[in-house]
Amino acid sequence: MAKIAFIGLGHMGGGMAPNLAKAGHEVRAFDLSEDALKRAVEHGCTAARSAAEACKDADAIVTMLPAGKHVADVYRSAVFAAAPKSAILIDCSTIDVATAKLVEEEAQADGFTMVDAPVSGGIAAAQGGTLTFMVGGSAEGFEQARPILEAMGKAVIHAGAAGSGQAAKICNNMLLGATMAATCETFVLAGKLGLDLQTFYDIASKASGQSWSMTSYCPVPGVGPETPADRGYEGGFAAALMLKDLKLAMAAAMEAGAYTPMGGEAEELYQRFVDLGGGTKDFSGIIKMIDDSWKPPEDDQG
Ligand code: NAD
Repeated sequence: MAKIAFIGLGHMGGGMAPNLAKAGHEVRAFDLSEDALKRAVEHGCTAARSAAEACKDADAIVTMLPAGKHVADVYRSAVFAAAPKSAILIDCSTIDVATAKLVEEEAQADGFTMVDAPVSGGIAAAQGGTLTFMVGGSAEGFEQARPILEAMGKAVIHAGAAGSGQAAKICNNMLLGATMAATCETFVLAGKLGLDLQTFYDIASKASGQSWSMTSYCPVPGVGPETPADRGYEGGFAAALMLKDLKLAMAAAMEAGAYTPMGGEAEELYQRFVDLGGGTKDFSGIIKMIDDSWKPPEDDQG
């Protein structure tokens, strides 16, 4: 069994690290938050006093941090200096493609093997060990990371060279954000046209308008399978995180010279939803903003 340093024990890492411990690995955990660290220890991990201490003698380093700047900082200030060169470095955070590639280049120049391995699936999947990992890096890096990722997920897919995991993640989430916004406005329109929403769901889910956003994650309460819509849009995938991913996608599109008007529109809609206070709601809750925005302004009502 491997000695694994796990850095970043928030909503996601706090679920993932215990699954490595459950699989029999020795997990040395570190987070800036004492509470997060305490919870990890309660779930079978050992507390380290610093990221560097966690990395000492480790076979693998796993990071699950908020954004690119945290990842670059942790690798530059602790991991590269403290981890053995034989350790596989695995960043599971969702970050910008440019930083992912840069940190992986720095790792390689320092004699390390590193992969980017962002996840699909939320907090429940992190706890349940059912995440999907999209991995960018060399074939050797992928093979070294695979058994560790398999202890935390149900699917581990090699997406391509360094940065490809992040690229796949943000392309997937740009598509998800755009199809969810389109699904929401479609159901609002269907209602305004007098259609029964369950009947429209039955038709569209068997017709060419079908999408995951509708049939697996319907934003309308009481229609389709049980989703966050049936729980007041609580839980699920926070709109603020969808906005983060759409911003990453737009930055990547700009750098790659790709024309992404639908992604841009989705980013604008989610920005407005977050500005209106919807950031902690599930991302399908944007239907409330789309629905409300159809009301005629006060001035026009009387
Ligand atoms: P979070 O904010 O809950 O957790 C991040 C943790 O990192 C915090 O506990 C924080 O204290 C810790 N941290 C920050 N800087 C640190 C440092 N220098 N050293 C040690 N610890 C440090 O975030 P999260 O929801 O767990 O998300 C983590 C990543 O996973 C993000 O990139 C996010 O976009 C991605 N993600 C989240 C979800 C989700 O549903 N929450 C789903 C898929 C992907």
